Amino acid sequence: MKVGVVIAAAGSGLRMGAEGNKVLLPVQGKPMLQYSLECFEAMDEVRDLVVVTREEDQEMVGTLLERMQPTKRIQVVPGGPVRQESVYRGLQALPADTQWVIIHDGARPFITTTAVRRGLEAAREHGAVGLAVPVKDTIKRVRAGVVVDTLPRSELWAMQTPQIFRYELILKAHQEARRRDLVATDDCALVEALGHPVQIVPGEYSNIKVTTPEDLPRREEFSVGSGYDVHRLVPGRPLILGGVEIPFELGLLGHSDADVLTHAVMDALLGALGAGDIGEHFPDTDSSYAGISSMALLARVMELVRSRGWEVSNADAVVLAQRPKLTPWKGAIRTSLAQALGVFEARVNIKASTSEGLGFVGRGEGIAAQAVVMLRSARS
Ligand code: MG
Repeated sequence: MKVGVVIAAAGSGLRMGAEGNKVLLPVQGKPMLQYSLECFEAMDEVRDLVVVTREEDQEMVGTLLERMQPTKRIQVVPGGPVRQESVYRGLQALPADTQWVIIHDGARPFITTTAVRRGLEAAREHGAVGLAVPVKDTIKRVRAGVVVDTLPRSELWAMQTPQIFRYELILKAHQEARRRDLVATDDCALVEALGHPVQIVPGEYSNIKVTTPEDLPRREEFSVGSGYDVHRLVPGRPLILGGVEIPFELGLLGHSDADVLTHAVMDALLGALGAGDIGEHFPDTDSSYAGISSMALLARVMELVRSRGWEVSNADAVVLAQRPKLTPWKGAIRTSLAQALGVFEARVNIKASTSEGLGFVGRGEGIAAQAVVMLRSARS
């Protein structure tokens, strides 16, 4: 099987609001075009690749190819004024002994080798195939804002690429279209115009054509952090947990208000940011932090979180205390921390545990807290 690929990448990307060619815009850190190139580069079945681009993008595409160091021969060919002309130029650039052609839009970065192979297999049997998915929306024909017809949805498929053809067939279809001044938005239509049947092969809904910026998936990243803290219980101090003052005959000893739970949460946030710990940010040798509310410090950590482009996804914490019984206060603590972290209460979980009388917690000498926080990249 001598298989050639033509990637149509000569669009201007006006609807993307892009300065240059949209297929060179980054998608999750890579130029959009690179995804298609990698897909076909990974297929042993493919022998030749032709990328059709605008004259002014040839250099950038060349640089991209240099960086990728492909093992296949990839030609870069200047495109025409319309897609059909660009594809035709790509077809002509393939070696004369090519048997099968895969035509693909460079603006469909989410193509998979599985889908291409499904198409290639069907093409061997039918000579002309197009990947497509059943239309989910009801489609109406509209003229001057008024519906003139409702099309039967069960018969409607949204065409995608790749579209795969026997080489002589698609070449003939393009030449015939040129002769008859026929212009179509996909290659299957040109083969249909020859009277040759085109077989539909199920594509994938994820194989979208990136047309407007909203089509691009938001890059979502997560970062997790953990925190742990202990403070000693002493008389004559308030007991504050998660910003909530809890009536008890003892309180926690510390440089600030010694809110052990909030300290653990702050450390978890700093951990997720890769930004050290609270000791580095708020040293207890600095007198300005003496007696300060830990919630004020948490607000500063949250400023850091936001300034680095993150937001809290959720937080989970456990407070280890033999006494007092914390169950009645868990709701208030949750509300307080959710507010400070800028999330709904459902995204914060507070657990209380004794240590079965064991260790410093069990002897009531101190309270420990442990927290895990998940950050996610902030929606812009
Ligand atoms: Mg502490």
